[in-house]
Amino acid sequence: MDKEEFLGLYRHSLAHVMAKAVIELYGEDTLYGIGPQIDDGAYYDFVLPEGKSITEADYKTIEDKMREIIKRREDWTRKVVTKEEALEVFKDNRFKVELINELPDDETITLYYTGEDYVDLCRGPHVSNSQELMNVSYKVHSCSMAYWKGDAKRDHMQRVYFYAFPDKQQLKEHIKMIEEAREREHKKIGAQLELFMFNESAPGMPYWEPRGWQMYQTLLAYSRKIQKAHGYTEISAPLINNKKLWLVSGHWAHYLNNMFIVPGIDGFTQADTNIEDLQAALDDEDETTSAVLEAGTPVYDRENIDTMAAKPMNCPNAMMMFKRKLHSYKDLPIRYSEYDVLHRKEKSGQMNGLFRVQEFRQDDDHTFVMESQIKDEIADIIAIADEIYSTFGVTYRAELSTRPDDYMGDIEVWNRAEAGLKEILDEKYGEGGYEINEGDGAFYGPKIDLQIKDALGREWQCGTIQLDFQLPHNFGLTYTNAEGNLEMPVVIHRAIYGSLERFIGIIIENFKGRFPFWLSPYQVAVVPITTDHNAYAEEVIEALESNHIRVEADLSDKNMRSKIKKFKPYQDPYILVLGDNEARERTVSINVRGSNKQIQNVPLDTFIEVCKKMNQEHTLELVQEM
Ligand SMILES: [Zn+2]
Ligand SMILES: [Zn+2]
Repeated sequence: MDKEEFLGLYRHSLAHVMAKAVIELYGEDTLYGIGPQIDDGAYYDFVLPEGKSITEADYKTIEDKMREIIKRREDWTRKVVTKEEALEVFKDNRFKVELINELPDDETITLYYTGEDYVDLCRGPHVSNSQELMNVSYKVHSCSMAYWKGDAKRDHMQRVYFYAFPDKQQLKEHIKMIEEAREREHKKIGAQLELFMFNESAPGMPYWEPRGWQMYQTLLAYSRKIQKAHGYTEISAPLINNKKLWLVSGHWAHYLNNMFIVPGIDGFTQADTNIEDLQAALDDEDETTSAVLEAGTPVYDRENIDTMAAKPMNCPNAMMMFKRKLHSYKDLPIRYSEYDVLHRKEKSGQMNGLFRVQEFRQDDDHTFVMESQIKDEIADIIAIADEIYSTFGVTYRAELSTRPDDYMGDIEVWNRAEAGLKEILDEKYGEGGYEINEGDGAFYGPKIDLQIKDALGREWQCGTIQLDFQLPHNFGLTYTNAEGNLEMPVVIHRAIYGSLERFIGIIIENFKGRFPFWLSPYQVAVVPITTDHNAYAEEVIEALESNHIRVEADLSDKNMRSKIKKFKPYQDPYILVLGDNEARERTVSINVRGSNKQIQNVPLDTFIEVCKKMNQEHTLELVQEM
């Protein structure tokens, strides 16, 4: 048995044990739904008897009960049953009944008994006796509300999670990693550093506070600088577009549920006697509409051709930009980069700080190339990714997704494109140095995803490079080739940060809020020892700012210690302390972030040179000595 199989076997077996424990603790009327294994353990969904619920205080009790059950050394028996028999066994559990009724008629139905008194509907496999679970380590660690089948209109269930590992040591390490991740949590650090906030009036749409916005601008500036060097030109396009555009791009047919719809000029209709027809046309998710709808009420009909929608992606507008004039093959590649605001609707339960938002910007680009240019262009994009990711000190790995069965376009073009991509990836990462997901590409083209690895070893998909043979076709894009004939360009969609919001969330956690100098919202804090030193402090501030170093200062009459204490939580890389000595000598004394020592009397000019260099070179490590 390989490691994955082993993990699956005992994690899932433990889920049965936990369900058995919960039933013994909370009573026979406890309903149990599903209990799948996940990355670090498993969970089980329950509806507990009226008035009962599981809280953190109960985790230990559940663990102890599980231990007690394991120690009974009960046999696990597998039983093949008919649908009728299965329905009879679970007649008091409406969730299992639903699952059984959904099984195809020819499916073999198996039940697993743990001892005599616990039975679950399951494909298995499982341990054959509970004693096989004696040495594994587990810990019940959280509880959340879940809907049956993820449907907000159905039963609310309590989902109880546990970690499970082959031994104590691995469990301990995992818990330590989770604690470390919790300390780095971007929502917590984001609040401490005053970077961003959310308000219920705009769910999933970040407010960028002055410090956070400064950092955001710095990331944008860095992206712009690199892309300019690689021949990109920046555009900006409407955020809200008419339905006509979304019909052409295919978003209306395939992405509508994720789009924020905006009434057009004539989008509203007066509700009249045909209320029922209108209701049917309304978004069915909007349950409140029917309650307020009466004759004469202005209602909105999204099927109206005048309807508009906020853009979830930049692609269609970039196609329009290309189409505005005739292009020659000599103009290609054309690279339109774009940082416009995008909106995508998410289910409320899925939003998570900056990691899952409804409003964001990407370092997006659409490059228009001839087929013969694909390979070189992709190589250049990978060079950009290398440069950007290494600046943040993260490694990454590439994944190539190839032609799916329902592909669109010319198979020869696909074959040549995929061969080209493989060639580049082979050259760059060595054969086998990247993953290939056969058949996982989009129907419109193969893609390369770039997964970065953070300081905790967690992987995040940020970069994506996507070939597209379909969109240029939908928009009728052409260029004149060397023979003077019209030909269709290939589009490459690409992003390196991906969503800037999400990327900021990732780097907050990666750096634990202690950003490299060039990226820090404020880079230097200035603390004059007394107000007598304010004049020199102002001189220092001016000198720093004229060298594009971001400074904040406290010139109040508070004492030095409380001023320093105020700046510390912001994690500014340097806090300068200025007194008589410093003013006389034109020096600064520096408190370096993360160090208790003060570097005394560094000439102001030397300090400025060090800062300038770190800004110019996007240095990862903070200079500790001067
Ligand atoms: Zn099972
Ligand atoms: Zn795109």
